[in-house]
Amino acid sequence: MRILIVEDERKLASFLKKGLIENNFEADVAYDGKNAEKLIKQNEYDLIILDIILPDTSGLKLCEKFKQQNPLRPVLMLTALGTTDDKVSGFDAGADDYLVKPFEFRELLARIRALLKRFSDFVESSNKLVVADLELDLDKKAARRGDKVIELTAKEFLLLEYLMRNSGRVISRNDIATKVWGSDTDVNTNVVDVYVNFLRKKIDRGFDKKLIHTRVGLGYLIDDK
Ligand code: CA
Repeated sequence: MRILIVEDERKLASFLKKGLIENNFEADVAYDGKNAEKLIKQNEYDLIILDIILPDTSGLKLCEKFKQQNPLRPVLMLTALGTTDDKVSGFDAGADDYLVKPFEFRELLARIRALLKRFSDFVESSNKLVVADLELDLDKKAARRGDKVIELTAKEFLLLEYLMRNSGRVISRNDIATKVWGSDTDVNTNVVDVYVNFLRKKIDRGFDKKLIHTRVGLGYLIDDK
């Protein structure tokens, strides 16, 4: 289990890192928002510990961004701001738990474990693919982006599932044709283009952030960058 600590008080950050490593977690530290975003792109984290007052940004803004990128990755806010209003803004920003400084390390540890458990149960039981705010429920055969429910035909569902299982990777039109239409069907790759456009209309239309991307001459990919 790998945890990202976003905390600008260096002493506290290294205390946290040491404590987590002693408890068999892997841990990285970012002292500001910029580095936090960099590390998130480079590594897979199972949980983020996030301070609110950071030198270059607000932890609340970061939290919103992180939850948008991956709603199933828990964020625990750690902060000196302890009023009810502060907590409410933390939860509004998508935080999954909130711990006020000063705190005891063993309480933090207990909360981390509880969060990880809650989220792993959720991931396993829900059987969902997630890219940014797009969710594909493989059991219910349902798709949604944010609050919007997306109706998909069977082929569109298969195509989206294939793209999402390979999110971040460019998939060639031939591979898509073979996987979605079957190897013995002689599907013209134009069909792939047509279906990708159907998906685009359903998934990206009306959203500022486009998730389906074309790489000319190479194929298609889905990701949130
Ligand atoms: Ca701070």
